[in-house]
Amino acid sequence: MGMVGGGPGSFIGPVHRMAAELDGGIRLVAGAFSSDATRSREAGAGYGLAPERVYASYAELFADERRREDPIDFVTIVTPNHLHLPVARAALEQGFHVLSDKPATATLAEARTLRELVRRSDRLYALTYTYAGYGLVREARALCARGELGAVRKAVVEYSQDWLSTPIEATGQRQAAWRCNPTQAGIGGCSGDIGVHAFQLLEFVSGLRVVELAAQLSSVVPGRLLDDDCNVLLRLENGAPAVLIASQVAAGERNGLTLKLYGERAGLSWSHEDANRLTISSLNGDTRILHAGSNAPTLDSLSKAAFRLPLGHPEGYIEAFANIYRDFGRLIVTGDAASLQQSALATIDTGLRGMAFVDAAVRSSRADSAWVPVDQEFVARE
Ligand code: NAD
Repeated sequence: MGMVGGGPGSFIGPVHRMAAELDGGIRLVAGAFSSDATRSREAGAGYGLAPERVYASYAELFADERRREDPIDFVTIVTPNHLHLPVARAALEQGFHVLSDKPATATLAEARTLRELVRRSDRLYALTYTYAGYGLVREARALCARGELGAVRKAVVEYSQDWLSTPIEATGQRQAAWRCNPTQAGIGGCSGDIGVHAFQLLEFVSGLRVVELAAQLSSVVPGRLLDDDCNVLLRLENGAPAVLIASQVAAGERNGLTLKLYGERAGLSWSHEDANRLTISSLNGDTRILHAGSNAPTLDSLSKAAFRLPLGHPEGYIEAFANIYRDFGRLIVTGDAASLQQSALATIDTGLRGMAFVDAAVRSSRADSAWVPVDQEFVARE
């Protein structure tokens, strides 16, 4: 694997590296880790790479790797959002598969462009929507699809953090600086950064699309150009109402992602901070808790495959990421691109959905929280 982004002091690049290599089938061998050549070299040395495979730019990475006898098979994109499209485009055009971090792009128009590029390419493209890597999230999806809840009647999804509660972007804090800058983050602040995770989790687990929404996006910290707090009402394709809350100014919240789905007969609840448990509570008063590592006979094969340890041994964020890498690696090895749609991997369509959400939320909020449709027309059901 090659990596673009993930330079010194970055957040998610090193996590990707750990996760990619967890199962022994993937190795980071090349990269352009920073826009600064010296910092890229510094990162490459830290990752223990051969100096000749540490590049000053992603253009050089793809051009040189292409000429090698042992080139990288795929690239992972872990840069700020505005580079997701140009790096993915360059990789696909030079013949490399792409595993990109979310959001797919910086704007909805860019996501449409990327979808066309992916369609025309014979290379694989997938996104690391991390939470769909958890076995119990996959099981939540499976039991919804099996009808265990009955028809979904209401959904509540919340993703709250507090790390942008003060204007740390002004202090040069690296992760905050680009996330609060529209030219690098794109049209959404909190909505594009973590709102898209909440939106993906809701559609992934429920199997239902959001068709319209009414959003109030706020910049709670004075002077911010992008939203740092989102309160959104949604309507699902079966008519059910839903609520999505995302915030990066919610004091005391660390990485609080929770999903609650309520059906005709039962409800389910999953929380990232207690990720090894899935609770299913039915109207008759029964509550069932599924644990990661469960051997329950009803378990879906995709969920089971995502468990790595016996019951009671906690699994977490890196394992969830690793499940995505393992799935993606297998598709590369088998060359079975058609299986991408049947896997639990997020495709370019999922990426488009995320950008359609951000676009609709921004439009609605600017129109005094009017209800607006979430763009559907170009998205095939996965
Ligand atoms: P970061 O600021 O910590 O790291 C970004 C890295 O990209 C830096 O090392 C920077 O030097 C590098 N970079 C910038 N321009 C470059 C260029 N032209 N060529 C090569 N490298 C370049 O950011 P982060 O928090 O790691 O986020 C990176 C991406 O990952 C974002 O798109 C973010 O949305 C996503 N992310 C996803 C998750 C998740 O849970 N899936 C979590 C965090 C971040």
